[in-house]
Amino acid sequence: MILPKNNRLTPEQLAEITAIVAEFDCKIQPIIGAIRTIYAIVGDERDELMINRLEGLDYVDRIDRIQSPFKLMDRRSELANGKLTLGGVTLGQELFVIAGQCTIDPKNPNYFFETAQAVKEAGAHLLRGGVWKPRSNPYTFQGDTKSLEILMEASRRTGLPVDTEVMEEEHIKLALDAGVTLLQVGARNALNYSLLRAIGRALGGRTDRAVLLKRSLHMGAINEFISAAEYIAAFGNPNIILCPRGTSPTLDGYRNHPDESITPLLKEKTWAAVVVDPSHSVGKAAYVPACALAAVAYGADGLCIESHINPSHGIGDDPKQALSPEALAKTIRQAKLLWKMKHETAGA
Ligand code: PEP
Ligand code: MN
Repeated sequence: MILPKNNRLTPEQLAEITAIVAEFDCKIQPIIGAIRTIYAIVGDERDELMINRLEGLDYVDRIDRIQSPFKLMDRRSELANGKLTLGGVTLGQELFVIAGQCTIDPKNPNYFFETAQAVKEAGAHLLRGGVWKPRSNPYTFQGDTKSLEILMEASRRTGLPVDTEVMEEEHIKLALDAGVTLLQVGARNALNYSLLRAIGRALGGRTDRAVLLKRSLHMGAINEFISAAEYIAAFGNPNIILCPRGTSPTLDGYRNHPDESITPLLKEKTWAAVVVDPSHSVGKAAYVPACALAAVAYGADGLCIESHINPSHGIGDDPKQALSPEALAKTIRQAKLLWKMKHETAGA
């Protein structure tokens, strides 16, 4: 990673370093921050001659060489100094809450409009709504592009930015063009490297958009999760949130094996914000509040909670795991209190 002396390189300087690294089969990927731009060397950056030539340039402050499979997402990376603000919240400074339906029902848009208003009143900062759904059963409702319009209309009515899952390249473009702020990569696609690359490419340089990367059901080592995020960051947009959501095999009685406890382990390795999804972790509304509070106790920066104005009339996961607006409001209230307690205690 190249850190220039000034806030950014001039086009001539960029051309010069691009030509140098090209001799060593590497590329330069600018990572544009609000104040300063840094320049990742994409490729094998271990060649001493290349580093010596770059360090010799009078406009280069220093070269950071982090020996890590995820050198951009690594805690030691310069990107650790960045900040991500969504829905008016700078992550890490107060508890950040995403809430809304698992799935938007295109036949009953009013449910979603009412849910959107209710989650806003409950204290959510960003509205979630599934447009396209990855379903284990191919004969169940798979989502509908028509729901994207409903999602954006709810965003306009409430003023909340929105999150939706994208499963294919076509979804990425549709969602970005419609104005979706947070693209969600679901648990089933968290190891789909071509989708991760496509998202990275589409978001490169678009600092107004971010990605919520769920943990795969089958991810083993923590490094595998962070490396998946690196696929996206390598194209120049570091606005990435990691989202533990439960893994396989399931814990008897829960939908998955709740994994909010990996939060401190992630934070030891990466600077990325961690937003836990308690809804898919436990899979039943009655257990969601405790899992949400546990996530905050483990140091999560935020929560992503499924909620529906009338869960029994929902589709997808909503009848089982969506919180009512009242339960959501109570959970957010308690989670905010706990977040404050945790962050006010010195050394917590
Ligand atoms: C969802 O958020 O509704 C969803 C399908 O999540 P996951 O990818 O974690 O299963
Ligand atoms: Mn769901």
